[in-house]
Amino acid sequence: MDLQTKALHVGYDKDSSGAMAVPIYQTTAYEFRDAQHAANLFALKELGFIYTRLNNPTTDVFEKRFASLEGGAAAIATSSGMSAIFYAIANAAAAGDNILCAKQLYGGSLTLNTHTLKRFGIEARYFDVHDMNALESLIDDKTKVIFFESLTNPSIDVADIEAITKIANKHGILTVVDNTVATPAICRPFEFGADVTVHSASKYTTGQGLAIGGILVERNDLVEKLRANPRYAHFNEPDVSYHGLVYVDVPLPPFTLRTRLSLLRDLGAVVSPFNSWLFIQGIETLSLRMREHSKNALALAEFLESHPSVKKVNYPGLKSNINYKNAQKYFEDGLCSGLLSFEVGSLEEAVKIVNATKIYSLVVNIGDSKSIITHPASTTHQQLNEDELKACGVPSGLIRISCGLESAKDLIEDMKQALES
Ligand SMILES: *Cc1c(COP(=O)(O)O)cnc(C)c1O
Repeated sequence: MDLQTKALHVGYDKDSSGAMAVPIYQTTAYEFRDAQHAANLFALKELGFIYTRLNNPTTDVFEKRFASLEGGAAAIATSSGMSAIFYAIANAAAAGDNILCAKQLYGGSLTLNTHTLKRFGIEARYFDVHDMNALESLIDDKTKVIFFESLTNPSIDVADIEAITKIANKHGILTVVDNTVATPAICRPFEFGADVTVHSASKYTTGQGLAIGGILVERNDLVEKLRANPRYAHFNEPDVSYHGLVYVDVPLPPFTLRTRLSLLRDLGAVVSPFNSWLFIQGIETLSLRMREHSKNALALAEFLESHPSVKKVNYPGLKSNINYKNAQKYFEDGLCSGLLSFEVGSLEEAVKIVNATKIYSLVVNIGDSKSIITHPASTTHQQLNEDELKACGVPSGLIRISCGLESAKDLIEDMKQALES
């Protein structure tokens, strides 16, 4: 089945009312038929709904549908993208372990990995997505995860997914790919050897900036990589917190099963049924929207590249971009999503442009249907000095755009008048 058909149908078989739209099951808990039924559900002898912190029928549709778009076995929805990332790492690593992370990461992931995980005894070691030799030299017996973004936010690089997963597989290490910016409509990391994907559903999945949520997806047959793998003893030994369950022995996708039974149970960063319902609406049009976001971003990037006030444009869809080859290889029809950045001569010039645009909103978000403009040096990266800004690839004249679904003509005209104001 094609992705666009799956996006409309997978996971929902109409309830007894025949409702065409997936109903919102706004409930905390579910009645058991009798004591035996309850006991069977807790023992996983029968699958069913228990309590909305663990599972919910509306969320179940969102999870099944998103897993199918990604080409995975199962998914777990969470209360935010950050909690999905934390769960993916915490499900693989514990105190004393290390994880390898791309330098080119979302700011929240950088602080999570460098500072918060450190407090839990997990060390983050960084590699450059353009330098695979350095990556392998960071691996040791305690390495549990290689974490990177398929299309990076905010630096807009495209990872060489196959090169990274090949090194990971050689050492039996799990790869976790943040696929938020590319989305499964453009990139499906499992086709290139990745094991787990995570997403902020708050971006292109909701698509209109309506809700915060996240999702974690596991590939098919991941059990084969975990079984008897000394790095992941906790999947192969009895879980004393769940009456001795051995995850690789259960006929269910083990990574998401353990996330649900242990992490969702104990940490509880669960998505609300209403937000799951919003994400289901978003998924219906995801691949249609991603095409338009990508077309608009390419048109704007080409315009900016031709403008004399612009020093540099970063968009993987441009032939001049260092990521062009990877984008052609890993992205559906070479579509590159809606994120681009460009550099003008100075901080003052950048501020003037940000203030002069009329259609673009000054907002720190991406993936909205409305176009967004941000100036990292005066907002998200304000605490850094000129040298530090350069080191992390954010010159003071850099402007980031999340291209929305307005007409490309209007987006270009508005940008032109702002550049020339
Ligand atoms: C926004 C974002 C996140 C965090 O997601 P939230 O839903 O805001 O918690 C993680 N990764 C990337 C690439 C993002 O853009």
